[in-house]
Amino acid sequence: MTLSELGHFTADQFAKAYGHGPRWIAAAPGRVNVIGEHTDYNEGFVLPMAIERYTVIAAAPAAAGAPRVQLRSLENDEAKMIDLSKPLQPFARGTWANYPAGVLAGFLARGIPLNGFDAMIHSTVPLGGGLSSSAALEVATATLLEAMTGRTLEPVEKALLCQQAEHQYAGVPCGIMDQFISVMGRQDHLLLLDCRSRQTELVPMSDPSVALLVINTNVKHELGSGEYAKRRAQCEAAAKVLGISSLRDATAVALQQAKNRMEDVMFRRARHVIGEIERTTQAAQAIRNSHWPEVGQLMYASHYSLRDNYEVSCTELDAVVEIARGIGPQGGVYGCRMTGGGFGGCTVALVKTDAVDALTRKISEDYQRKTGIEASLFVSRPAAGATILRA
Ligand code: ADP
Ligand code: MG
Repeated sequence: MTLSELGHFTADQFAKAYGHGPRWIAAAPGRVNVIGEHTDYNEGFVLPMAIERYTVIAAAPAAAGAPRVQLRSLENDEAKMIDLSKPLQPFARGTWANYPAGVLAGFLARGIPLNGFDAMIHSTVPLGGGLSSSAALEVATATLLEAMTGRTLEPVEKALLCQQAEHQYAGVPCGIMDQFISVMGRQDHLLLLDCRSRQTELVPMSDPSVALLVINTNVKHELGSGEYAKRRAQCEAAAKVLGISSLRDATAVALQQAKNRMEDVMFRRARHVIGEIERTTQAAQAIRNSHWPEVGQLMYASHYSLRDNYEVSCTELDAVVEIARGIGPQGGVYGCRMTGGGFGGCTVALVKTDAVDALTRKISEDYQRKTGIEASLFVSRPAAGATILRA
């Protein structure tokens, strides 16, 4: 479905639920991080891309101008109501509507008044699949409120408002990448984001002969959050030994010199972060130059470092990467790596566009044979960020 078809579909669903058509429709994409993993909380670089998967939200004024917001989603049966005549508060932890509610709260906190409305949400970003359906939902909501109120936020402020919604309403202490790319993505571009300065740079990737193939291993090992906290602590400890505030300021040489002053595990964690920050800026340059084999090599190097130094991969992610590597550039694969926090979730591969159908078949079959699990795959070119479809 194209984005415009998705907008029409969501409008139809709105009409089914509420008995009349919507006045406003907004959309925001999910994302995949092409390279730069576990660098964000070390104040490094990330290089995400908006994907051709979107969350759409359609809305119309509440009946009789009532000061209440009704939130419905095709992905969740539980409709939620927000009373705008009282101070806003999060719903119980885990309630889906906390994501849009937090965005409403952000607008109100900035002194932007809101009227009551009815909304219908639909998403083609898989929920909980590591492709940031949560940020897509927040950013789609913020874009809808911009259309409704006629108040346009600066892109950085809008992304930070959405991040704050995720922190304060959903209770998830996320970084800034997901909201930044969902707001600022541009068609045929990746976004190089400096997680320290929050500066962004669009990296052109207009060559239509390549695309990103996202392969979901469809496994999620439950070590996630505890291991994540450990990695963060190890990075902070390594920075301390190096006498710096974050690993962003470290060099490979300085790390080597400090090797005998730190535990091996701490050394390897830092080696990943330092190497990955460098690979990310190198990959951005190689993409600008359309040097696809070089980008692919950097992606493999990223994966092996995440596997061996950072130890956040798993057998299923490794299986996909080895299948991809076995196919090689002749078969249409330049590179492949795990993407996201690790211990399951997705890999991302840089592939030749004209090989996508054959690759989808081959990778699914080989992965199924190796692991007994069915993968889900989809291809995407770099998509645009949030848009108003109907104002
Ligand atoms: P990810 O962002 O990787 O998809 P998260 O756990 O961060 O995973 O966010 C997923 C959660 O976001 C869902 O469990 C749900 O609460 C909420 N969500 C996202 N999109 C929708 C939607 N279209 N409808 C209802 N809830 C949604
Ligand atoms: Mg999320």
